[in-house]
Amino acid sequence: VKKAEIIAVGTELLMGQIVNTNAQYLSLKLAEIGVDVLYHTVVGDNAARLKAVLEQASRRADLIVLTGGLGPTEDDLTRDLTAEFLERSLEMEEHAFNQISRFFSKRNIVMTENNRKQALYISGATPLPNAVGMAVGSAIRQDGTAYLLLPGPPRELKPMYETYAKPWIEKHLDQRSTLYSKMLKFAGIGESKLAAELDDLIQEQSDPTLAPYAKEGEVTLRISTKATQEEAAFAKMEPVIEEIRRRIGTYLYAETEQSLEQYLIARFQATGQTLAVAESCTGGLLSERLTSSPGSSSVFLGGMVSYTNQAKQQQLGVQEELLSGPHAVGAISREAASQMATGAADAFHADYAISVTGVAGPEESEGKPVGQVYIGVVKRGEEPKVFEELIHGNRDLIRLRAVKKALFHLWK
Ligand code: ATP
Ligand code: MG
Repeated sequence: VKKAEIIAVGTELLMGQIVNTNAQYLSLKLAEIGVDVLYHTVVGDNAARLKAVLEQASRRADLIVLTGGLGPTEDDLTRDLTAEFLERSLEMEEHAFNQISRFFSKRNIVMTENNRKQALYISGATPLPNAVGMAVGSAIRQDGTAYLLLPGPPRELKPMYETYAKPWIEKHLDQRSTLYSKMLKFAGIGESKLAAELDDLIQEQSDPTLAPYAKEGEVTLRISTKATQEEAAFAKMEPVIEEIRRRIGTYLYAETEQSLEQYLIARFQATGQTLAVAESCTGGLLSERLTSSPGSSSVFLGGMVSYTNQAKQQQLGVQEELLSGPHAVGAISREAASQMATGAADAFHADYAISVTGVAGPEESEGKPVGQVYIGVVKRGEEPKVFEELIHGNRDLIRLRAVKKALFHLWK
């Protein structure tokens, strides 16, 4: 929480001629926006003492609110002294100046230099208009401390605070913003394709920022923004996420940090459906990924690692003619993937089954290139669907990516 000090300037306050109601008002108001007031200081219209008070406050407060001493008379020192303290000059606020000029010309009174003074604000500050009187306020941050200069008369101070000072404080003081991130998880799309689809957003979008990265065969897009509140952060992210959904929403499987297998296990769990697998080139990796997710026991019934042709025939019922003989298409084929999936669904009495058969390398096999993978997906009682993929990478990567592709096709 930010710490504030209120400095009321005026000898009348010290003499007991007026009560420091501004300090009370400001304390109540600052508490409402989460600013703790730690000190109320009262100082007379005296340059040296006001300067000393400013020095002290700047060391112990994040926000210093000065009230009083913005008027036209000789004893109104606050503006000049604060500017001097901050080593800044004063600037004329044109609108206020015109208003003051009009006031005097209307009344046929000559405007004095003192009256001009009221339209001055600290150079570099945000001028705070005075809806009721003439003196312009100032709001400025310097060296990590925020300074607010407000007029003394409560009927001027209150509207200036509510309309101009409070929004300024909320905008400039509360810098305790936190970095909020949202993860979008994609499957079935590579990092480079994703980056190409979102190139303009990634390059030009500065708040929130977009950062894609690939990890374990999945692409994650991190959307980050700084904000003081979570709702504000997500409100800022939402239009960008909407645009991403529009462009590549078909690959987006989750808007939280979770792996595709975690997502699928949760989905199957929610619908009470079961899953079995038949693996060749992935050698059990698909089963390993599925069982690594908590909750998998109610979903994943089992898997067969059918590495040899014999195992494919005996364990999964893949037809012998498919694997050997004059009409054989081989174990790395659409037909084999299809029969493996059906075989696994039957063997485990599962609602769904996935199969993977392919060439992990380093050598080609059955005349099929390294990376050639067939994935079978079957819903029990329906025709299996087979997906053909050519996957790049070394043996380990091909196996991992084949697993993710299989999960992707199951998800789709
Ligand atoms: P003005 O233009 O009226 O001179 P100013 O900003 O210079 O305004 P001061 O001269 O310090 O302010 O005070 C003007 C009047 O405002 C005081 O006579 C008093 O009535 C009121 N006032 C000033 N400070 C406070 C305070 N801290 N609490 C309540 N009222 C105050
Ligand atoms: Mg005054």
